[in-house]
Amino acid sequence: KEKEALLKEQMRFLEKANDELKKIDKVKSNFLSMVSHELRTPLASIKEGVAIVADKTCGPLNEKQEKFLGIASKNASRLAHLINDLLDLAKMESGKLKLIKNSHDVSLIIRESVEELEPIAKKQAVDISIKISKKLPRVLIDSDKIHEVMTNLISNALKYADNNDRITVRSVRYKEDPNFVIIKVIDKGPGIAPDDLEKIFHKFQQLEDTSTRKKGGTGLGLPICRDIIELHGGRIWVESKQSKGSTFSFTLPIEGGKVMERKKILVIDDEEDICETAKARLEASNMDVQTALNGPEGIKKAISFKPDFILLDLMMPEMDGFQVCENLKKNKLTKSIPVVVLTCLEDEEAAKKVISKGANGYMVKPFDKDSLLYTIKEFLRSSNDQ
Ligand code: ADP
Repeated sequence: KEKEALLKEQMRFLEKANDELKKIDKVKSNFLSMVSHELRTPLASIKEGVAIVADKTCGPLNEKQEKFLGIASKNASRLAHLINDLLDLAKMESGKLKLIKNSHDVSLIIRESVEELEPIAKKQAVDISIKISKKLPRVLIDSDKIHEVMTNLISNALKYADNNDRITVRSVRYKEDPNFVIIKVIDKGPGIAPDDLEKIFHKFQQLEDTSTRKKGGTGLGLPICRDIIELHGGRIWVESKQSKGSTFSFTLPIEGGKVMERKKILVIDDEEDICETAKARLEASNMDVQTALNGPEGIKKAISFKPDFILLDLMMPEMDGFQVCENLKKNKLTKSIPVVVLTCLEDEEAAKKVISKGANGYMVKPFDKDSLLYTIKEFLRSSNDQ
């Protein structure tokens, strides 16, 4: 009883904190958007003014004047780029960025982006090769936005490349889910440390401890790429080995394919290995996954993360699956979330019992990837149909 009262209080506190955070986040997004607009207008005039003088429209220039105008122009462009990124980000955060999707040949977008960056690659003596499968289906995308992602990833690869390096851009149908194609940008650059692989997709994150810090940038490129790809229903990730290079991959929906909206899954299990493997498998299928290693943490996350589906272990110390399930089904914020209980063979009877507490089904451990995905997709489909 005491625990329950404590939990209720914590829940109320969390809900309030969550509302406050949402409000603050909205103020921040509006501010970002307003400031970016305000900065863009005068900057456009500065750029234009510098360009007119540099063009010698107003008379001849001496060497020094030309040099300093060049510096001014380069930095005005950098600033414009940064402001555009901030504006993009503000739009995405406030949900105002709408995609204009059409059917496209993705190989054209890849070729265009590579062509655009070819002069920079030549200067660095870097070779960019393109390998695209012949039978690539058309994709349903906002071509401007995907072009932006492509140039961002290839520019990054070039930024960290050494002379005579090679960058490869590949595209094939995605084996894991044929409703998608996958595009990879592979470089032989400095690579990224394992702990930083997820960090670089967070806003304003640049890695301090690598030579990359010296290369400039804002740390906004990859978060914007992630938002764009996820808005398309795809996924973006990186695999990397330090001093061996990095491979950035993203998926795009094919035209006429069946793309499930990105779903949120919560895994509650005291065995860290189960949590980690389930997370890896579900993420590979474009799901957004959070994990909790005990019941109370699971209940808190069910409220704050608002998952579309919960996988719940039955046997856990402190608070077992029965209690967690009962709690979830009593709370108006969590009661409609489908819960599937994870159990071992010996506890199958107990698992059946938990259904009387409101659970929607059970799965016997160990489960393989296919049965896990099948179960989740079936439940999500039936809850969509209702
Ligand atoms: P920016 O490049 O503007 O700093 P990004 O969001 O594009 O911002 O990248 C974030 C960070 O990720 C970079 O600062 C760098 O540390 C790292 N990074 C991105 N791409 C690569 C790459 N191809 N090789 C090594 N590090 C990379």
